[in-house]
Amino acid sequence: MERVLEVDNLRVCFDTPMGVARAVDGVSFHVERGEMFALVGESGCGKTLTALSLIQLLPEGARVESGSIVLSGRDILKLDEYEKRTLRGDRVSMVFQEPMTSLNPVFTIGEQIVETIRAHRDVSKREARDMAIELLRKVRLQRAESLFDEYPHRLSGGMRQRVMIAIAIALKPDLLIADEPTTALDVTVQEEILRLLKELQEEFNTSVLLITHNLALVYRNAERVAVMYGGNMVESAPSKVLFKNPMHPYTWQLLRAVPDIKRRGKRLTSIPGVVPPAYMFPEGCRFSGRCPKEMAGCSSLKPGLKEVEKGHLLSCHLYNHEFMKDRERAAPLVATRPEEGPPQAEGRGEGATILEVKGLKCYYPIRKGILKRVVGYVKAVDGIDLTIKEGSTVALVGESGCGKTTAGKAIIRLLEPTDGKIVFMGEEITHLPEREIKPLRQKMQIVFQDPYSSLNPRLTAHQIVEEGLTSLLPELGATERVERIRRVFSLVGLTEDMLGRYPHEFSGGQRQRLSIARALVVEPRFVLCDEATSALDVSVQAQILNLLKSIQKEFSIAILFITHDLGVVEYMADDVAVMKDGRIVEYGRVEELLTNPGHPYTKTLLSSVPKIDVAG
Ligand code: SF4
Repeated sequence: MERVLEVDNLRVCFDTPMGVARAVDGVSFHVERGEMFALVGESGCGKTLTALSLIQLLPEGARVESGSIVLSGRDILKLDEYEKRTLRGDRVSMVFQEPMTSLNPVFTIGEQIVETIRAHRDVSKREARDMAIELLRKVRLQRAESLFDEYPHRLSGGMRQRVMIAIAIALKPDLLIADEPTTALDVTVQEEILRLLKELQEEFNTSVLLITHNLALVYRNAERVAVMYGGNMVESAPSKVLFKNPMHPYTWQLLRAVPDIKRRGKRLTSIPGVVPPAYMFPEGCRFSGRCPKEMAGCSSLKPGLKEVEKGHLLSCHLYNHEFMKDRERAAPLVATRPEEGPPQAEGRGEGATILEVKGLKCYYPIRKGILKRVVGYVKAVDGIDLTIKEGSTVALVGESGCGKTTAGKAIIRLLEPTDGKIVFMGEEITHLPEREIKPLRQKMQIVFQDPYSSLNPRLTAHQIVEEGLTSLLPELGATERVERIRRVFSLVGLTEDMLGRYPHEFSGGQRQRLSIARALVVEPRFVLCDEATSALDVSVQAQILNLLKSIQKEFSIAILFITHDLGVVEYMADDVAVMKDGRIVEYGRVEELLTNPGHPYTKTLLSSVPKIDVAG
């Protein structure tokens, strides 16, 4: 099979005040013509930096230290600037995660495709226009002619990503790099984009390098996959082999951290600790310090990449006979980390009703003309009913714009509902004035998706958690406040020495723990989690989901979990409400609704979720 791309021993580093950070360290792989090859791993594992090296668009301060990148027979690292520019687009192109930031907002999408074509091909404007329209049709965009003159902001996220793909394939490159191409999209659109990439890959015999943290997408679409950790490639194999028989401890852990219905009632596997900064990696195996199978010699001796069966490469001392023969080096570390914690009892939600919502509506007027007359309404939430009991979790699922976040905010009265009834702990709060709502705020809390933007960067962790206490429970004395803060910190798995830190000094998972601490310190009865784990890596998500479950069990808290991730729903929720266009189209127990959906929309949603089903 012809190799379109061959990367050998690639090293990319940054100079930092703390020393040289080797963010990509000795990575080797190849991509064959017409195949989809996936690079997977969590944030900071070096996959995007590897991809950016391939198109020679490294961020400032980064440089390729050594190695070679041979694309279509030419070593990219030996080309001059002009040759590199010609190569980009002509032989290799890239689709990024957020199409809106890659498209120029002041040019029409047609102009942007034409510009790409004419920069590399000697064709007239007319010919380039025809080619652009044909490309828009190829990526299955309706009304291609009129879309040619549209500006990017008038298109949906999925349409913009199709335009990006049209630009990327305009010159029929040998290699298309797709860096998290579906992460910002809804699950049904994700599926369409991946199917489109697959079709184009087959039609043009283009090779695709898919970069993602979504393991199920890889399982369903890629022929081969490589797992990266800490700038190293730790395992690589044909995808069906890797998912059926993962051999590297990091790959096991990653796969076991994915929430689904089979793991209900069990703790999800979470990887202890966090990925250290690139200048602090241990000399030996970079996964040492976090690995459940670590042996005495792991942190000082670097494991090489070995082929353990045809096409299955591994970098771990466990599969090195020489290493394992030396009893001293291969001695398991005394404090072997548990792979899985004890099972978790489920909150079955048999307690008293905490929250009851009936016919909730949130309408927003559409005004037109000089007099701004109301000509209609946007019905963001259009008459929904929900009941949540003590100690239970109800999931509200649906795609972007379905009204789930608006509904959540209206329920805890961060928004004024237009109509309906909200009864919280026996008291109707639908239209209570703010001064009367305030005492109830202590009982209802919220955890947002992005902990970074929801935490005040000027306050320390202690001040952030204390702020809510002083405002909602002013009667507490200083000593009691400090005690509560300490208690909640240990409950969410943060240590006391972190109390003086600022939000930017925490990792993503720790920040989300801090948001949870802020919500729990006032001892609420109900917590609204709005996409609380969507921005997190899968192993960090597992830590947070485990934490929420154990806290819920201990304090019998009711949770309304707003999410678009059905895996999280299967794992976390007792009941699920599926929302579409402001209405709940289906409601029921998770086990029943997700195994036997009744509504066509629920069926579409479920069939679009890629699953890792190694038995299938
Ligand atoms: Fe774990 Fe050692 Fe293998 Fe690294 S080399 S993954 S620390 S067992």
